[in-house]
Amino acid sequence: MSLLSVAEARERILSYFEPVAAETLPLAECAGRVLAGDVTASTELPLFDNSSMDGFALHAADSAAASPEAPRRLRVVADIPAGAQPTVSIAAGEAARIMTGAPLPDGADAVLPVEDTDFQNRVAGLPAPEHVRIFKAARPGENVRPRGMDVHTGEVILRAGHALKPQDLGVLAMLGEARVNVHHKPRVALLSSGDELLAVDAPLESGKIRDSNSYTLAALLEGAGAEVLRLGVAADRREAVEALLEKAAALQADLILSSAGVSVGAFDFVKEVVEARGRLDFWRVNMRPGKPLAFGEYRGIPFIGLPGNPVSAFVGFEVFVRPALGRLGGLKTAERLTVRVRLGEAVESDGRESYLRAEVREEAGVLVARLSGHQGSGNLLSLVRANALLIIPAGVKSAPAYQEVDAWML
Ligand code: AMP
Ligand code: MG
Repeated sequence: MSLLSVAEARERILSYFEPVAAETLPLAECAGRVLAGDVTASTELPLFDNSSMDGFALHAADSAAASPEAPRRLRVVADIPAGAQPTVSIAAGEAARIMTGAPLPDGADAVLPVEDTDFQNRVAGLPAPEHVRIFKAARPGENVRPRGMDVHTGEVILRAGHALKPQDLGVLAMLGEARVNVHHKPRVALLSSGDELLAVDAPLESGKIRDSNSYTLAALLEGAGAEVLRLGVAADRREAVEALLEKAAALQADLILSSAGVSVGAFDFVKEVVEARGRLDFWRVNMRPGKPLAFGEYRGIPFIGLPGNPVSAFVGFEVFVRPALGRLGGLKTAERLTVRVRLGEAVESDGRESYLRAEVREEAGVLVARLSGHQGSGNLLSLVRANALLIIPAGVKSAPAYQEVDAWML
């Protein structure tokens, strides 16, 4: 079996996925969801000219010569709280007390904050003074947030394929988008396989280990916007594997993700079972960790089989599953941000594309990476200590300290 490059394996997987369908959800349920259509502004933002300070709305020209030594006295003709539409127009020599966010009254073209007046009380319940002395000149437009300064009507604010961040929900609320068209969460059936696996709360037995992959992978999936269908552990028996795959099919999963049983071993029934109702290819990918990988489909549902070693499963998720989920979830770009970091020590590789666990820290303005421990694929602690994966390209067997390499921050 020849080795597939990481890029080729990823391309083959990605070409298989199409975005899941869309649904319309209340805005409050849309955090992290991927937009299924562009959002166009139906109004301007701000909706109206308003004050950015608690202060006095006035004619800037009236304040031109004002100073603490030579204050200017203005007649206060209105009191404008936030949420009220002013009914008076401000004439020369006049002012209106105004609160932050309140609409600017006609006539006024600037706001002078209370700090620059002799009426410094901000309590809205307190009556406005009859006159106010101002100590400072205001420029026209000062402390005024003009209507439409942020957003124009008809402007595309967010594009299809964008995952909604908290601040995006805020702008959607400002625009009155009470319901939003977003993609479903991809439903991912997750299973572990192996006779050696025990549940986390089961008493230890000799020769057995605890199933850790299902916890790590479920959390990675959820963090990537998937709904996880936890199927548990399949024993190394034909019927056990088949029972869980049938469950995944019954639950109408969009993806089946398993770990272990992909290296060609005597007790691996996964291939046999999947091929009874689909197909499964066993790949050897030119990467470390995580060389063995299985990809196929079961009853029409895409199937990705990650290696069993905990670090291999994690890296395989980042390299293959995260982009596949992105495509499935409707994301326009699922590309991870690659940062350049400087090696704090020499590193070695075997020439496969290597994903090294490292701790990246800023030292004198430079991002410096040091390996976070033993790089064996079963050594989960070094991944626990890591905050980055360094990517050493295929064909490179060693890299000296100070060399710059690509990294994914975790
Ligand atoms: P396999 O891919 O089945 O050859 O497994 C490779 C290694 O990963 C073995 O040491 C397994 O015991 C270990 N392993 C497999 N599945 C899990 C799991 N769910 N949690 C932790 N370790 C696992
Ligand atoms: Mg196994």
